[in-house]
Amino acid sequence: MKNHIPFYLILILISISCTDSLEKNNITPEYVIVIHGGAGNTQQKDLSEEKQKEYLKHLNNALSIGEEILASNGTCIEAIEKTINYLEDCPLFNAGKGAVFNHKGQNEMDASIMQGWDLNAGAVAGVRYIKNPISAAIQIMNNSEHVMMSGIGASEFAKQENLEIVDSSYFFTNDRWNSLQNILKSEKYGTVGCVVLDKYGNLAAGTSTGGMTNKKFNRIGDSPIIGAGTYANNETCAVSATGHGEYFIRYTVAHDISALMEYKGLSLKQASDLVINQKLKNAGGNGGIIAVDKNGNISMTFNTNMMFRAYTKSTGEKELGIFK
Ligand code: ASP
Repeated sequence: MKNHIPFYLILILISISCTDSLEKNNITPEYVIVIHGGAGNTQQKDLSEEKQKEYLKHLNNALSIGEEILASNGTCIEAIEKTINYLEDCPLFNAGKGAVFNHKGQNEMDASIMQGWDLNAGAVAGVRYIKNPISAAIQIMNNSEHVMMSGIGASEFAKQENLEIVDSSYFFTNDRWNSLQNILKSEKYGTVGCVVLDKYGNLAAGTSTGGMTNKKFNRIGDSPIIGAGTYANNETCAVSATGHGEYFIRYTVAHDISALMEYKGLSLKQASDLVINQKLKNAGGNGGIIAVDKNGNISMTFNTNMMFRAYTKSTGEKELGIFK
């Protein structure tokens, strides 16, 4: 009689090799949410304990908003919108209310969203009057034939979509004004982002920012650019970036991570490490990313001293952090 490998053994072998790609445990969580509140080179000693606690409290509040939506069967886009809206309304973060000032003393904001199942996306760039730029990006994705709108036109569209339009004075905060006056003694980032795997197996990513303090000539960063600051693809991962935008655009950071997974078979961890800690770092690009893959593995990788960050999974795993 021939010596056949029993069928059940083949099944076991196949299932082992499939689960091999899972980096931590081999159960895909029902949902995962990861957020960031910007990366930078602030030293731990320069951020008071009180301030650190404040940041962590608001990161935790934002995470809970998203988690509640996902736990009660909401979609990744709903979770991203409400989570980022909270961070946009919080003056601590460089997005919405807390947006930094440009060279002229104005607030010009960028934001984008991408969903991984059909690669649809929406973005706003250089908007000055939209209270919650991420919501405008979502409306552009859902209700227009375009991907990106900028400036006054984007505000007109947002108004048409019944989003809240505010006077530019709404975005004035003393902290941001003072940092413009101190003109970049040390670089500061504080963009916000959120990536999600929802109960339906869908991935999405969103990013919202005031850009870089003292930026000139209607400069636009990576945050509203699909493939640079934001990318999502159900076949690979969802990524939101923060850092020195020019480098993230030139190195198409968010898409590069996805492409390394898709074409080279790297894991999320390997791909984000290669892009952030090697390619970007060697080029002199500061910053980091948050990401989640289709199996619920996450990455919070940064080559700076710190990145405000947090994640939670349906399995109960949870972590909040600032410094390395
Ligand atoms: N990436 C953003 C930009 O360059 C800034 C940041 O992440 O803080 O506009």
